This record gives sequence, C-alpha cells and structure tokens, in this order.
Amino acid sequence: MLPFKTLQEAESAIGRSLTTAETIWCYKVVMRMFILVVGPLQLVSYPSVKMIGIRTSLPLPSLWVILLQLGTYFIVEDYTNYWIHRFLHCKWGYEKIHKVHHEYTAPIGFAAPYAHWLEVLILGIPSFLGPAIAPGHMITFWLWIAFRQIEAIETHSGYDLPWSLTKYIPFYGGADYHDYHHYVGGQSQSNFASVFTYCDYIYGTDKGYRYQKKVLQQLKGASNANGEQNGGSVTFAKDCKDD
Ligand SMILES: [Zn+2]
Ligand SMILES: [Zn+2]
Repeated sequence: MLPFKTLQEAESAIGRSLTTAETIWCYKVVMRMFILVVGPLQLVSYPSVKMIGIRTSLPLPSLWVILLQLGTYFIVEDYTNYWIHRFLHCKWGYEKIHKVHHEYTAPIGFAAPYAHWLEVLILGIPSFLGPAIAPGHMITFWLWIAFRQIEAIETHSGYDLPWSLTKYIPFYGGADYHDYHHYVGGQSQSNFASVFTYCDYIYGTDKGYRYQKKVLQQLKGASNANGEQNGGSVTFAKDCKDD
C-alpha cells in the first residue's frame, strides 16, 4: 500500500506523475467506495424503485417511449448536476467534499467515480430524479444507469474518440470539455455541467473554456502559417540547389 493520503502527496514525494500505480490506486479507492457506500444502498434499491413507480412486469415499453424517457432523464440529470456541482465549488463544498474528485488534474476513465463518499451519495440524487419524475419500466431504468455510467467514463477518459457524441450533438460536452474543468482545478468556475454544454452557456460559466479554445485556435493558426513559410523556404532552397 502506498503510504500517502493523496495523489498530490505521492507525486510530490516521488517527483513524477504516477502512471500504473495511479490506476491501481484509483481502482482500489473506487472499489472500496463501491463496497462500503454503493453496496449497502443496494439493500434499499428494490423498495425505492417500487416506491417511485418503476414497473417490472410485461409488456415491455416501445422503443420511442424508452428513447423519450432516456432523453428526459439526461436533461433532468444534467440540469440538477450542474447546480449541485456548482455548489460543490464554493469554498466549503470544495474543501470538505469535492477536492477528492479534483485530485486528478488530467482524469482517466477510472477517475469518473473517484470522489468523496458524500459526493457519490449527493450526485446520486440527479440520477434518480429523472426516473422519479417520469417513472418507466425497469429495462429503461437499467439502460439509463448503464448509459449514464458509460457517459461519465467517456467524459473522464481524456480521449476524444471518433465515435464520441461531440461529433453528432453540438451541445454535448465530452472529454475535452470536462478535461478543462479538471485542468483548472479548485479555482475552476467553468464547465460544471455533466453531459451537455448549454447550462454553462446560459449561466455564463463557460467563458474561461471558450477563451482558452480561442487562444489555442489562434496559436495553431499562427504555427501553421509559420510552418508554411518555413516549408516554402525549404522548397525554394531545394529548387535553387536542383538548379
Ligand atoms: Zn468540479
Ligand atoms: Zn470530473
């Protein structure tokens, strides 16, 4: 077992960023939290699901009903998560709870559920709010939980994969969007939303991200122009030599 309380402590003691050890650490912490926090919740999951009106009997819902309900759950989750996450970035919320999740300044997929146990419980509320408002079939509920987890892992993966929804939904956040939130860290008052980008746009909390994008775009443009100039002179020199 590594004798450090946080990743930062370990990294500054070792003098380099952690790689394999980091992944094993993250896995261990997440598994412990699943066993001690999420596990006991399973004991009350069936009565809770029955209470909010999720049905388990036949007939199965149509594809359109499933899609409509999943869309609703994503919108409700995104909006509620935005405000809870924003609250967790106040001084008290950050220091006492949210700091743990931000130990990763460049997150990996495993780091999606890497958080304080209280944050795992609090952020469970937005996930259950949608099904509580518009209860459907158990199949829809399972799909919702699976898609939500896959989305969270993809968002923390650090990869802008070719099949990422950012290519198809213009207001979908994705890895690049959430990476900026982790990159800025504790001072971050930007990119709070979990799935989409419109909440941050409406409430003006994406300005830092948009400014960074603009500057990077300008730098890229300038370096391309420089490259072309240099390339041109190489071609010119080669032409002279051939002559
Ligand atoms: Zn945060
Ligand atoms: Zn995160």
